[in-house]
Amino acid sequence: MNYYSLNNNAPKVSFKEAVINGIAPDRGLYFPSEITPLPTTFFEEIETLSNHEIAFRAIHQFVKADLPDSVLKEILVQVLDFDFPVVQIEANVATLELFHGPTMAFKDVGARFMAQCLGHFSKNTLSEVTVLVATSGDTGGAVANGFLGVKGVKVVILYPDGKVSDIQERQLTTLGQNITALKVAGTFDDCQKMVKTAFLDETLLNEMQLTSANSINVARWLPQLFYFLFAYKQAKSQGKRIVFSVPSGNFGNICAGLVAQKLGMPAKHFVAATNVNDTVPEFMKTGKYNPKPSTATISNAMDVGDPSNFIRIRHLFNDDIEALSKKLSSYTFSDEVTRKAMQKIYETATYIADPHGAVGYLGLKKYQSENPETYGIFLETAHPVKFLDVVQDVLGISPEIPPQIQKVLGKEKRAINIATYQDLKSYLLK
Ligand SMILES: *Cc1c(COP(=O)(O)O)cnc(C)c1O
Repeated sequence: MNYYSLNNNAPKVSFKEAVINGIAPDRGLYFPSEITPLPTTFFEEIETLSNHEIAFRAIHQFVKADLPDSVLKEILVQVLDFDFPVVQIEANVATLELFHGPTMAFKDVGARFMAQCLGHFSKNTLSEVTVLVATSGDTGGAVANGFLGVKGVKVVILYPDGKVSDIQERQLTTLGQNITALKVAGTFDDCQKMVKTAFLDETLLNEMQLTSANSINVARWLPQLFYFLFAYKQAKSQGKRIVFSVPSGNFGNICAGLVAQKLGMPAKHFVAATNVNDTVPEFMKTGKYNPKPSTATISNAMDVGDPSNFIRIRHLFNDDIEALSKKLSSYTFSDEVTRKAMQKIYETATYIADPHGAVGYLGLKKYQSENPETYGIFLETAHPVKFLDVVQDVLGISPEIPPQIQKVLGKEKRAINIATYQDLKSYLLK
């Protein structure tokens, strides 16, 4: 299995090289050269398989050239050591809770998988790898936690000052060891721009092996397809066509869902639900892709104006927007509507949704209003306690703080303030 660059102007590489490079030398995202469907028996018997078996069989073809089966199995045992329950909310509406991991963000799986892969690859080399990552909220904590103590890997996290929640900030600034947080005077887009500039900077590239832990990295992106299979396994007995609604920012998670479908998972439809950062909903309406600066919302992990993985989705459908529309709908929702949805979910099901999950719920309801004969699953991408101020403000209640979060609350935040790309560069070269 090779990976090629979606800009088509770079050599094909192995899984290992794709993980270490992060992005191809021509700035394109890597994409697997083949996606071979799993046998239909896999889906027929999926209820009898453990999550580890499902994950192993689903990701095997993408990594087998560089990860021996025994190593892959070990990695999956470490990565998937928590539950992914599908919880009923109303008739034909359920939520897939992806927040039972160490940082209570769905990104834990991808971040841990990538960390374990890089750790394995760096065992055989002497040079250190520096992971550079921009976060709009949850990536930072998940990456910090996943990479903590991994030998041969140094992690540098950029986050926008004042634009992540207190808990998110603590999760990425309190660990120390091989993790450094850089607090940027600017927006998430500014952070992302600095990271992108660093990957193009010859001086830096000559000095160090830089890679990205954003979902452009195949080792962070691909394992997310597990979620959809785990959910399918639990929802299959409903006997209805399944629809997934995914609260989307950089569109990595939903793109992985579409890969799961390409592997043969029977799903009727996907909904990409966004906050007011509506670049993709606009594209689906007009066929024009107009990236714009991001707007701050209460679902801040999705405040993305130029979603990096959407190009992979277009590629999966050979850039045929009509074919894509048959499988994917995309809707945008304001903060006001999102708050109302949180209230409605709480009133009807006594379920506390976080703002991202609530956006997913809204997308699902919108699709089901025209397609009622479906069983819908919206993804709950973060525990509500991660967005405590919004939950308190909207629902007037304070969810109990789970032990994973309690652990970081008392710790001292440590970050280095930066404002410009030059600051980042000086830090990295130091
Ligand atoms: C990252 C994130 C998202 C968006 O996921 P993408 O793969 O970037 O579309 C949604 N919700 C939460 C809580 C997140 O942390």
